[in-house]
Amino acid sequence: MDIERAALRSTGAIPSTPLTSAADAALMFPTLTSAQITRIASHGITRSVTQGDVLIEGGQTDVPFFVLKAGEIEVIRPSGLGDMLIAVLRPSQFTGDVSMILRRPAQMRLSVSSSGEVVQLSRDQMHALIQTDAEISEVLMGALIHRRIAMVAEGIGDALLIGSGRSAATLRIKEFLTRNGHPFKYLDLDRDPDVQDLLDRFHVDRVEVPVLICRGAVMLKRPTNQEIADRLGFNARIDKNHLRDVVIVGGGPAGLAAAVYASSEGLDALVIESSSPGGQAGSSSNIENYLGFPTGISGRDLAGRAFAQAQKFGADIMIARGVTNLVCERQPFGVSLDDGTSIQARAVIIATGARYRKPSLANLELFEGAGVYYSATFMEAQLCTGDEVIVVGGANSAGQAAVFLSRTVRRIHLLVRSDNLSGSMSRYLVRRIEETPSIQIRTRTEIVALQGNGHLERVEWRDGTGEVTSHEIRHVFLMTGAEANTGWLNGCVALDEKGFIKTGPDLTQQDLTASQWPLERPPSLLETSRPGVFAVGDVRCGNVKRVASAVGEGSIAISFVHRALAE
Ligand SMILES: Cc1cc2nc3c(=O)[nH]c(=O)nc-3n(C[C@H](O)[C@H](O)[C@H](O)COP(=O)(O)OP(=O)(O)OC[C@H]3O[C@@H](n4cnc5c(N)ncnc54)[C@H](O)[C@@H]3O)c2cc1C
Repeated sequence: MDIERAALRSTGAIPSTPLTSAADAALMFPTLTSAQITRIASHGITRSVTQGDVLIEGGQTDVPFFVLKAGEIEVIRPSGLGDMLIAVLRPSQFTGDVSMILRRPAQMRLSVSSSGEVVQLSRDQMHALIQTDAEISEVLMGALIHRRIAMVAEGIGDALLIGSGRSAATLRIKEFLTRNGHPFKYLDLDRDPDVQDLLDRFHVDRVEVPVLICRGAVMLKRPTNQEIADRLGFNARIDKNHLRDVVIVGGGPAGLAAAVYASSEGLDALVIESSSPGGQAGSSSNIENYLGFPTGISGRDLAGRAFAQAQKFGADIMIARGVTNLVCERQPFGVSLDDGTSIQARAVIIATGARYRKPSLANLELFEGAGVYYSATFMEAQLCTGDEVIVVGGANSAGQAAVFLSRTVRRIHLLVRSDNLSGSMSRYLVRRIEETPSIQIRTRTEIVALQGNGHLERVEWRDGTGEVTSHEIRHVFLMTGAEANTGWLNGCVALDEKGFIKTGPDLTQQDLTASQWPLERPPSLLETSRPGVFAVGDVRCGNVKRVASAVGEGSIAISFVHRALAE
């Protein structure tokens, strides 16, 4: 498409050297031993290839896997610019990136540049191989993940986003693509005047920005996340029509853990996620208290790994599709989606977690994404580098956000409603905050007004004395407690007074009578007031609201699912 060619050319946003020449090329493009190639070959066919053959075309949905035995293959990003060479594969190296595991369309064209011989496996044969051969799985998965990391870092892929740092929709799309691990190149109208000229020339009005150009061929103006997912083929290969053993609603840590255990134990599992995999944890800059990561891990990395792991074992994960209703009076259960379709399931795991409570402030929505943020990741930090910011909240998520932002912002006001932090925040975070001179704790203080024109410009807060003062601050991070995502259940299962789902021993006889519990046995530990419907993670009443407990509950729920399916 002309606009993509022109935009990339004008900004010089073109990959310079092929990835196979990068410093970490050995991680991305390892060579297989001849014994490994022989094992792989036993799963597929071996055939000759001729110079000029196109083995895979960009956008192709059924993507095979190749190991090169002789010859040379060029990996090319198809673009209006002409071909961009991304990598050159040599004998004993192999093709593929994470898209293959995710069953998404190919982002690159693979073309034979020197005749030779390849081992070819279908996507399903390759998938079966990595599930059964641990040694080859380690080599392949490691390379695929490193390739994807490099593609995301370099913005090498099939999507070009043109947006503005002042636009909430731009931030939403950047977050959506990033949290889905989808590589994209970003051009900012505010920083690069040439891009504005280009949009004018192509008659794209400023109100139509952000625009997303997919595969150099389709331009989406101010697209929704669902439109992006549909266009980039995130859900293209998911079959909605067959009866699933288990449908998992929500793709946060609890839902992804359930998916890993369900699929690795042979259940036909589908995860339905209304936004991006990772849930709340995906918006954490650094999780330091999760076992096995002594220096911490970003929520995005944790989610990315869990996502790939669940897919490796064969779970399907549907992105940007919300569940709107659960038909639970009959078996199989019916899970209704926001596109009007419905999926049948023999068991259901509810892992819809919680979302931040929004303070009741006039015009809050006007500034969401344009000065008001609900997560503090690298992306939001970039928007307020060197500025003064406010973080609201007294729990761990607020503490983490303050510590993380203190690396890049000038000054942080941590606004807390109570008298101190010690009652609600882990001690290690309180200590770090106290040791960071740029963080000022303001107890018994709350925001009373937000002002600005298109972007937040000024904040008024009331302190413990009752005095209201005005401050020229353009960024507010709201981390003020969570409420359960259970509105969509329409009374299907028993909830506690705060809207969290009751399970196992928390269910009273009254709850069970009201929902006509039909079995002799009582509900199992994570079972709701409906047999075969389970709840795990933050959405469950009594859960301790930590990544580890969400992952633990998601994992053990599968043993209860097996029992319910056998009944
Ligand atoms: C900024 C931040 C930092 C944190 N840091 C830490 C930390 O350092 N250590 C720690 O242990 N914990 C931390 N937590 C808490 C931790 O992230 C949560 O306890 C954990 O994510 C809960 O996992 P979950 O899967 O139960 O729910 P969630 O993470 O809330 O995931 C639920 C998922 O369900 C999806 N969903 C909701 N409704 C629907 C629907 N109707 N249809 C389909 N999908 C739906 C949501 O989009 C979401 O992706 C932090 C939380 C935040 C917000």
